[in-house]
Amino acid sequence: MMEKESKRPPCFKISVPGDDSKKKDVLDKLQHVRSIIVKEMNHPVNNAYILEKVLDEFISTHSLDNSETKMENMNLNTYIQVEKKDVDQQLFVTAETSLQKLLEDKVESVATHFHWAIRNCEQNPKELKDLLINVVEHYKNNHTKCHPDSRCKRDLNYEPKRSTINKPIAEKLLLGVIHKSVIFKSPDHFVLARDTSYVESFNNTMNMFQDKRIVFSDANYNTRACLAVCHWNENVDRGFTSIWNPERRNAPRSMKGKKNYKSPSYSYRNNIWKRQINSIYL
Ligand SMILES: [Zn+2]
Repeated sequence: MMEKESKRPPCFKISVPGDDSKKKDVLDKLQHVRSIIVKEMNHPVNNAYILEKVLDEFISTHSLDNSETKMENMNLNTYIQVEKKDVDQQLFVTAETSLQKLLEDKVESVATHFHWAIRNCEQNPKELKDLLINVVEHYKNNHTKCHPDSRCKRDLNYEPKRSTINKPIAEKLLLGVIHKSVIFKSPDHFVLARDTSYVESFNNTMNMFQDKRIVFSDANYNTRACLAVCHWNENVDRGFTSIWNPERRNAPRSMKGKKNYKSPSYSYRNNIWKRQINSIYL
């Protein structure tokens, strides 16, 4: 039996983020435009026609010879690293994957730039923001404002390892990512370049002493917490015997190498024991 052919023509869909009130807003405007067009044309029109008409109108009023400027005028939005509440809810045709492609390899290295900017801003929030903005220029292969110590400045034969940004939309996207970042929004919280490694290290030690899969009594739990503190105090910042440098091209920040630490010591055990004995016999 022949399959029944669908009568409906194929359609395309445009996603507009927003809640019901947004939906109503858009539909109302659509209806408004429809009524004007129907009046003019004196026959019914479909949504695609309205949309085309509106976009044509927009393009004709914003028509400029330079296609680059046109791109910028279109006020393109994206969800990349942007919280929903921060998105300017204007109509946009979804093409997120293709937008992301424009930035391809930038994400990891931009993170490296952020780390570098924090360490080199000399505790000045304004400087930190300037350094972050300059990331875009660096990727456009303009190194005027790059740090004198960076390779793009010192190495006369410097050639960018990664593709440079040449499309205005990619530039806008990257700038958007920087502007929306927490570090850019509150630079004063980051200028000290503090990290959480000690906290993480202590938490690891805690997990060694307090196995999550075992239920301890309160006394036991407290004792283990105290032992973890003793162990951490004794072994934090201990020396290392070598540094392992894995070659990981895709993760440049891990290039700094992994330290192979000396074995931990346990003198606190003896100290506790001595104290206990002394408390009994002295
Ligand atoms: Zn540079």
